[in-house]
Amino acid sequence: MKNKEITSIRGVHDYFPTELKLWNYIENILREVLTSYCYLEVRLPILEKTEIYKRAIGNVTDVVEKEMYSFEDKKGNSITLRPEGTVGCVRAIIQNRLLQQKKTNHKFWYLGPMFRYERPQMGRYRQFYQLGAEVFGLDTEDIDLEIILLTNRLWKKIGVDRDVTLEINSIGSRIDRFQYKKELVSYLKKYEHILDEDCKRRLYTNPLRILDSKNQEVQKILQEAPLLSQYINKSSNIYFKNLCEMIASYGIKYIYNPKLVRGLDYYNDTVFEWKSDKLGSQNTICAGGRYDSLVQDMGGENTSAIGFAIGIERLVLLVKSINNISNIEEEINIYIIFSREDEKNSAIKLSEEIRNIYPTLKIFINFFSQSVRKKIKNAKNISARIVIIINKKETKKRYFLIKDLKKKQEYYLIKDDLMLKIKDFFKIKNVSI
Ligand code: ATP
Ligand code: MG
Repeated sequence: MKNKEITSIRGVHDYFPTELKLWNYIENILREVLTSYCYLEVRLPILEKTEIYKRAIGNVTDVVEKEMYSFEDKKGNSITLRPEGTVGCVRAIIQNRLLQQKKTNHKFWYLGPMFRYERPQMGRYRQFYQLGAEVFGLDTEDIDLEIILLTNRLWKKIGVDRDVTLEINSIGSRIDRFQYKKELVSYLKKYEHILDEDCKRRLYTNPLRILDSKNQEVQKILQEAPLLSQYINKSSNIYFKNLCEMIASYGIKYIYNPKLVRGLDYYNDTVFEWKSDKLGSQNTICAGGRYDSLVQDMGGENTSAIGFAIGIERLVLLVKSINNISNIEEEINIYIIFSREDEKNSAIKLSEEIRNIYPTLKIFINFFSQSVRKKIKNAKNISARIVIIINKKETKKRYFLIKDLKKKQEYYLIKDDLMLKIKDFFKIKNVSI
């Protein structure tokens, strides 16, 4: 190890306070909006048994074939770091019999890291964060609509609504897709020699994924290919038509994309993505759809379901690309300085008293052994709003020196007046002293 730098694993990231300011700003809005639609938070394990993903996501999907972080534990059981949240959530609700409880609200959300062994690039990492939401037990268009309304509201509140577009499609039932796959494969086999390596492999594993290939040559071949929309059963078609009309009636613009499919096997009927043209090729910030057979496939009762997931890093990149929100909040409200070691206690005592009265203020005591001049300079550098200087002589007389860094004023106040003044400084209401 000597002389060798210690580094992280490729494709995983450290996030520091400046970055997290933006993350927290976004996460607070996500939380607020989800709560306003009565979604309930759940926290689920990051580790699951590998078999549940193989069964539910599909053995021949990209995720299971090449992207999973799987390893053996000490007893030789195969464990996987979750690549997505839906499967774990369904496992949890079946295991804990949540759907058997007589509640009418089965809407859940979670936020946390996911892991996929992919080639790292902008917007694509090996550890990334997702906000996922899942709704169980509803099988009418209303809930699909509500999810579109909810996500639309998120973009508005975050301020990215003008930079995202909704794409939507129906992929019908499993039987529809089975029929269609046969036709698609027999059409594409004629062009197998000119397909790229990925598509060649998918021809035998997951042919539907060829539809959303980014390769222009492949897209050219697909122009004459049979269309999935022509294989979709009547009731799925009506459902989709109704949903599109409902979305339009709320003034939400969408693009019908007949080639939109999902990377995981468990979806049916409605699928959608919110995309942005500000993100390069990793342009999907939110993806979702119905998965009406997954709960039963995983051993639960027959339960319809729909969900979506937002890639937080991509959302952060999008916000950064259009907004200059470097100063979301003031860093420090009150910066306390003492000049001598025996004044330290007065500083701590004062800070505790201020926090008792004003619990939302951010109060910082400089504990370094520096000169008062240096401490004041530091307070200015980090844009503290006011500085309180504790000086034994003045404290004895019960006075504190206050420096208003914004207005460049300074004055002495006794403690009671200081407490009142703080209320003015930070425009705090509903506090009686
Ligand atoms: P992609 O086509 O970009 O690989 P996907 O179909 O694999 O996406 P989903 O499984 O639907 O993605 O995940 C939902 C969202 O999570 C994506 O739309 C994206 O915003 C985010 N996401 C997926 N994989 C990654 C990753 N490796 N790094 C960062 N974000 C990701
Ligand atoms: Mg992927």
